[in-house]
Amino acid sequence: MADAGQMQGEAEAALRRIFGFEQFRGVQRDVVARVLAGQSTLAVMPTGAGKSLTYQLPACMLDGTCVVVSPLIALMHDQLRSARANGIRAAALTSVDDDRMATMDAFRAGELDLLYVAPERASQPHFRDLLGSARLALFAVDEAHCVSEWGHDFRPDYRQLRPLMDAFPAVPRLALTATADAHTRADILAQLGIGEDGLIVAGFDRPNIRYAIRHRENGLRQLVTLLAEERGPGIIYAPTRRKVEDLAERLASVSGRRVLPYHAGLPPEQRAANQAEFVASEDMVIVATIAFGMGIDKPDVRFVAHAGIPKSIEAYYQETGRAGRDGDPARAVMLWAAGDFAQARQRLTELDEGRQAGERQRLDALAVLVETPTCRRAVLLRHFGEEPPERCGNCDNCLDAPDVIDTTELARKLLSAVYRTGQSYGFGHLQKVLTGAEDERVRQKGHDKLSVFGIVGQAEARLLQPVSRALQARGSLVANEHGGLCLAGDARDILTGGMPVVIVSPPAAGKRRRGRDAAPNPVGDPLFEALRNLRRELAEEAQVPPYVVFHDATLREMAAARPTSLVELGAISGVGARKLEAYGEAFLAAIRAH
Ligand code: ADP
Ligand code: ZN
Repeated sequence: MADAGQMQGEAEAALRRIFGFEQFRGVQRDVVARVLAGQSTLAVMPTGAGKSLTYQLPACMLDGTCVVVSPLIALMHDQLRSARANGIRAAALTSVDDDRMATMDAFRAGELDLLYVAPERASQPHFRDLLGSARLALFAVDEAHCVSEWGHDFRPDYRQLRPLMDAFPAVPRLALTATADAHTRADILAQLGIGEDGLIVAGFDRPNIRYAIRHRENGLRQLVTLLAEERGPGIIYAPTRRKVEDLAERLASVSGRRVLPYHAGLPPEQRAANQAEFVASEDMVIVATIAFGMGIDKPDVRFVAHAGIPKSIEAYYQETGRAGRDGDPARAVMLWAAGDFAQARQRLTELDEGRQAGERQRLDALAVLVETPTCRRAVLLRHFGEEPPERCGNCDNCLDAPDVIDTTELARKLLSAVYRTGQSYGFGHLQKVLTGAEDERVRQKGHDKLSVFGIVGQAEARLLQPVSRALQARGSLVANEHGGLCLAGDARDILTGGMPVVIVSPPAAGKRRRGRDAAPNPVGDPLFEALRNLRRELAEEAQVPPYVVFHDATLREMAAARPTSLVELGAISGVGARKLEAYGEAFLAAIRAH
């Protein structure tokens, strides 16, 4: 190809023609430019940033086929479907594709833009022979962290990719991942033979996700409220299989919405069926353990809720990242309780010594995120090494700044009571001691004679529970196996060293913190509804999820612009040449009918 400027122009024209997108998003432009220039690249881009476009677009522009390695067959087939819907010539070679012969013939004849393969194929000699039989444009390695033992999802088969790619030294490589710390990144570069100057890292921010973290008062009711506000598809993560089933059943009966469970203990057919229904649905809720999500490529998930705390900030980021991949507003809501932290800290003691410190740090970092009265997004992004603005304007704390209270004195009183009663009583007993309650057990133990008896006045008493929660979250108080609270972490610094304890003021009874503004989809707009119905019919006919036909944003733009010709329709974002040809007349007719 000619000079960079001309290439850029051609890339933008292809972006418009094939995908119907007006412009590149974020680092897509740089990644595509490198690929077109034949330079090997590792692109670290968050979920929803549009990784697939960075190889699909060059695959259509360059001579030869782009070989895409992807670890999960389900993921591969999702991508395949979307690529084909845009008129890209794509096929997959996996054990479940029974048209393998035809695919290989098409490849040899140079008729494929994309050839998806599973990594285990990479080590097969006849696969190498196959690749040698036609022209290759690019190797794209999706979920590239699987090549690294440092990553969270090591796949030994990925190690076979290097020798395979080395056999075709002239073909550039593009590795893609959403999750990679500096260590894993360096390892991916080395393992896949990509130079250090080939690294492109996009920011971690997901600006369309609204973060909110609330104390769990009545989890079921809080989730029912969320389900009433958010009518689109959503994922609720629960910690155990039992809780998953229980929550799914209750939410279904209380909310009246379609709610199904997903966890590793369900029969495989049922799991697959529930997942398939969710992917195709425009309004279903799935309650799941963290076994759910990896390999789900559903762009229109409108909310991700955590019914208990996630494992770490990394896990939280990854799980909430499944919301709003289509760029429309989405919500992440975490409900937490002190007991979640108590249990997690309890489980720490069962680990080998070596791992305890690291895991404790992860929990501490999560506690900071949960407890902060400042911007959630800023805490998240700083955790990933970025320098974000102080306020994002799109999290609970930015939208409705909580009051903070200095509760250092009260924390000291609570910690003293824990210490003086021998570090073996639960919160209820300590509360009675501190507030000077008339109580049989308190008297029996002689705790009414302690200097801490009755030192907390009525006004302060309402803050005791939140202070205890905060101290448990940050690990200054930990529960023993019988639920008795003991001093830990920085408790001594609080008691004697002047370490302050500032907490978020609990909302007064009845005051609900602000939720979100109206959803972006026009509620009750008959034209928009008609377009959605049409989309549903076309999707059913083609046996694809509705979002493969058009995204909500595209339908909204249609409803607002009311195009009257194919040319006008083609100017709408998300309407590429192929979709215009396949669906254009049907949508124009629906618009005309209004
Ligand atoms: P990732 O794999 O990085 O999570 P995807 O490749 O699934 O992200 O893309 C997420 C969504 O963003 C897709 O639905 C895609 O159609 C859309 N998208 C990608 N690039 C653009 C762009 N330049 N303009 C508008 N939408 C885009
Ligand atoms: Zn914020």
